[in-house]
Amino acid sequence: MQTANLSRAPAPERAPARLFHILDPRVLTRAQLDELCDLTTRVRILAKSRIGARILQTLLPHKRAMLYFVQPSTRTFMSFNNACHILGIRTSEIRDPSTSSEVKGESFDDSIRTFSSYVDVIIMRASGAGLAAQAAAAVDASRRPIPIINAGSGQDQHPTQALLDIYTLERSFEHRGGIEGKTIGFMGDLRRGRTVRSLAYLMTNYPGVRLVFIAPAAFQISDDIKSHLRANGVEFSETDSLHEVLPGLDAIYLTRLQTEWDVGEESASFDHRRYSFGPSELGRLKPEGVVLHPLPRGPELDPSVDADPRAVYWRQERNGMWMRVALLVKIFGVEDELPER
Ligand code: ASP
Repeated sequence: MQTANLSRAPAPERAPARLFHILDPRVLTRAQLDELCDLTTRVRILAKSRIGARILQTLLPHKRAMLYFVQPSTRTFMSFNNACHILGIRTSEIRDPSTSSEVKGESFDDSIRTFSSYVDVIIMRASGAGLAAQAAAAVDASRRPIPIINAGSGQDQHPTQALLDIYTLERSFEHRGGIEGKTIGFMGDLRRGRTVRSLAYLMTNYPGVRLVFIAPAAFQISDDIKSHLRANGVEFSETDSLHEVLPGLDAIYLTRLQTEWDVGEESASFDHRRYSFGPSELGRLKPEGVVLHPLPRGPELDPSVDADPRAVYWRQERNGMWMRVALLVKIFGVEDELPER
């Protein structure tokens, strides 16, 4: 049986490498990222035509997915739900824990094993950092190991968001050599936001990239991420001044204040005026720079920015669905059934 951190399925020898559990972005290689980006473009283009959409529909009608989302979600839930339907996968869901037998005292592991009796993949969002890994360990120990996809775990990780962010950055820099060598700023509540943590991990796959973390000291990126970047030779800096670094950025990734994790009044000290992006910041961004945001937005991102072609966050949101289609294609190993471009 696999351990919780393995990303590859127990495939017979000489079978093409497959993805299995998607728990932590650190296990993804550059080759896998490039393949997923390529697959994302292929399914995105294919889905545009009626015949292409029909081909996608025939890929996985024999599979069922469980969407276990007991923490709030709009985009990740909807994009996974639609990604499944694009591929013909049937879905069932639990969004409210009070409707599951966990309220009768059923353990988390037993609940996961129960889901795995009925479906072929569990896509889960939970409030605890290690819960997706625990779910993977539970199914690995069973006679029916099925893939677990972490769709956001507490303040810890959000690997599929990081994948769609990579795809959006690669597309944005398509004619400028891709992500490699670019300077990317991350601004906001970097300490408690899981998306930046996951994306920072994936950045180790892109030589020459420079990361700039922009936040007040109390909300700066955590030491564990910095250690990982250092260990992988990724150049990074920290600052509390957007003003100083903005003209040097190729991309800025904005994030909201994660007030839901407050245990006291932590968020009250966050000065939105210093860490927000509006018309005047847009005026100082490079003409070919891009603005990303995992959404939902708060006061850090002025809606007037939406109209600027450098604002790519609505495209980023939609890319999430296509990247999740590609991920499911890869997990179930049906990529060779896709027509060539
Ligand atoms: N939607 C993202 C997440 O689930 C970003 C956020 O909520 O701030 O982490």
